[in-house]
Amino acid sequence: MARYTEAVCRLCRRMSEKLMLKGERCFTPKCAVERRGVPPGEHSARRRRMSERGVQLREKQKVRYIYGVLERQMNKYFEAATRKRGKSGEILLQLLERRLDNVVYRLGFADSRGQARQLVMHGHLTLNGRNADIPSLLIKEGDTIGWRPSSIKTEYYKTLIKEIKNKSVPPWLSLDMQTLTGKVLSLPQRTDIESKIEDRLVVEYYAR
Ligand code: SF4
Repeated sequence: MARYTEAVCRLCRRMSEKLMLKGERCFTPKCAVERRGVPPGEHSARRRRMSERGVQLREKQKVRYIYGVLERQMNKYFEAATRKRGKSGEILLQLLERRLDNVVYRLGFADSRGQARQLVMHGHLTLNGRNADIPSLLIKEGDTIGWRPSSIKTEYYKTLIKEIKNKSVPPWLSLDMQTLTGKVLSLPQRTDIESKIEDRLVVEYYAR
């Protein structure tokens, strides 16, 4: 399956913004944006002011980096969003937020979406009791996300069940901390999703 292989901290530096792609490390002084700040590249500090188109492109790229989707996937999500009734930008973010890897991350099973994607791809999780190893699966209201019996025996699971008490889940999800089973109470709304994303700019990017 195609996915990003570029060093993720480089993506944050390119955006000059903390996209929180590396879990715990993002909260420490080791974060590359904290340490180095400016975008990668020799003359980056002297870059010109961005055009309107550049600002829109940047926002679209930011969304891609946050959710870890490729350009082609992103185009498909946007096309799907425009086919639905409502605000395309909000629907686009809702679709991305409904990806199984994102839900696994939101449930606190992983420190980053990248780690959540690995968990899903390695077949540790179930969706409604069935094995689910496709990160892009879209969850629906009422779905349950659990662990395969073989994965419950892993050190990862044993550590997680001790540490998960310190984590919180968004209001559209619930989590049984005894069994590490998550449930989708409702579909995520715009207010549940990254507030720092300007979905208007993403829509403007695709509108041209
Ligand atoms: Fe981005 Fe996290 Fe790396 Fe900092 S540590 S640059 S927030 S991915």
